[in-house]
Amino acid sequence: MALAYAPSLESTPVRIRERYDHYIGGRWVRSSSGETFATINPATEEALAQVASGTAEDVDRAVVAAREAYERVWRPMRPADRAKFVYRIARAITERSRELAVLETMDGGKPIKESRDFDVPQAAAHFFYYAGWADKLRYAIPGASDPSPLGVVGSVVPWNFPLLMAAWKIAPALASGNTIVLKPAETTPLTALLLAEICEEAELPPGVVNIVTGDGRTGAALVAHPGIAKVAFTGSTEVGKAIARTLAGTGKRLTLELGGKAANIVFADAPLDQAVEGIVNGIYFNQGHVCCAGSRLLVQEPIHDTVVERLRDRIETLRLGDPLDKNTDIGAINSAAQHAKIRELVQSGIDEGATLVEQSCALPTRGWFHRASFFTGVTQAHRIAREEIFGPVLSIMTFRTADEAIEKANNTPYGLSAGVWTDKGAKSMYVAQRLAAGVVWCSTFNQFDPSSPFGGYRESGFGREGGIEGLRPYLTA
Ligand code: NAD
Ligand code: MN
Repeated sequence: MALAYAPSLESTPVRIRERYDHYIGGRWVRSSSGETFATINPATEEALAQVASGTAEDVDRAVVAAREAYERVWRPMRPADRAKFVYRIARAITERSRELAVLETMDGGKPIKESRDFDVPQAAAHFFYYAGWADKLRYAIPGASDPSPLGVVGSVVPWNFPLLMAAWKIAPALASGNTIVLKPAETTPLTALLLAEICEEAELPPGVVNIVTGDGRTGAALVAHPGIAKVAFTGSTEVGKAIARTLAGTGKRLTLELGGKAANIVFADAPLDQAVEGIVNGIYFNQGHVCCAGSRLLVQEPIHDTVVERLRDRIETLRLGDPLDKNTDIGAINSAAQHAKIRELVQSGIDEGATLVEQSCALPTRGWFHRASFFTGVTQAHRIAREEIFGPVLSIMTFRTADEAIEKANNTPYGLSAGVWTDKGAKSMYVAQRLAAGVVWCSTFNQFDPSSPFGGYRESGFGREGGIEGLRPYLTA
């Protein structure tokens, strides 16, 4: 008989308003069209709140407010005082961390243990880290003795790490003396709006941070606005390319953090228990809604069957269900559209001849869920080996030599991240140096620190976020 765990539901209460307006110039402002849209809890399919649909006019108001704040208050302010505001935001995130975690989980579907232990602490850490840079900018760019801010930053972020991505944009922008207009993703706007409340409580000068909600049309209006000096985008490669076309020739600065199809390479001499945990973390963290997910597993031939067996056993122990349950490993898929996209790609894997292995648990009757799964018998030509699935689905392939692993790992238009598992330090260095990826994790996966730069090559985008490197895009050199 299988042992069942009693539910262990997170009990921190959050107050969700019925309707959220834009946060512009320090005030809550209705959409100029009066239109709103619902944001949904993907685990229950119920609407959580109505959110303002941003029009081009709303975007314009926000950019004007941000420009005014930039010229009158934020740029002239002593850098050490700017730092105090950024520290205040960091502390307030820490103080309200439980509330932020619950809201993140309700709006986006990720397990509470992830929003509580990863998303929110990482968001606070980014503000703490960049606050320290605010009065040390002259050391940020070698050779540039007096780098200055650019003006108004326009930022569009996705739904997989909503608060954390907002932090990745807002913290360096503010620390380097810029003001910002941020558009959260349409399925997950609520934590960015709570962050706006936090900015209010921190008495951040009005207009320094502005949040305009809406869908891709709002995002398109923001990046095209002539008052924007720099665009920072995280999201799909397709939209990234469209933004690059819009900005070409305008002189606006741009950083793009796009998709990925990371190789996770496991050599026969790797410590297998750790490697299997790394594989699980690499693909099932946040239901696989991770741009740097280790979605292509390359296993050295002699250990293929062993790894597959262990993975098959391991995914049986993953608990899928209510994201607010502290024991949940696999939460809800973020939206009906993403759920359909995952299912379509899984079907293509079956149709193209790969073998699907899934955990056997029952799915909740409401909400969008997808079992932890992997494919064996995958070839490099299969769609599931080439396209980003952005779900809890792993594609397993094999290799014989290190050079073959490198060649297969680099056989992708992306280049965001990779993992290497081996007992030999020299081998991991040999492989890591030859991988076309912005980040390579050796004998670990999905490690993040605000002092460490993150970003891609090729179709995964350009520019770095985090660390000193993450300040450069926000400063004139
Ligand atoms: P998306 O790129 O469409 O959305 C990301 C953000 O961009 C959202 O805020 C969206 O409103 C906005 N946006 C959409 N169209 C825009 C436009 N023309 N101009 C400006 N902003 C625009 O991503 P999606 O459709 O939500 O997801 C599709 C796929 O993208 C996923 O399946 C996944 O493969 C990939 N993705 C990658 C990341 C990442 O972190 N790199 C994040 C989310 C999605
Ligand atoms: Mn939602």
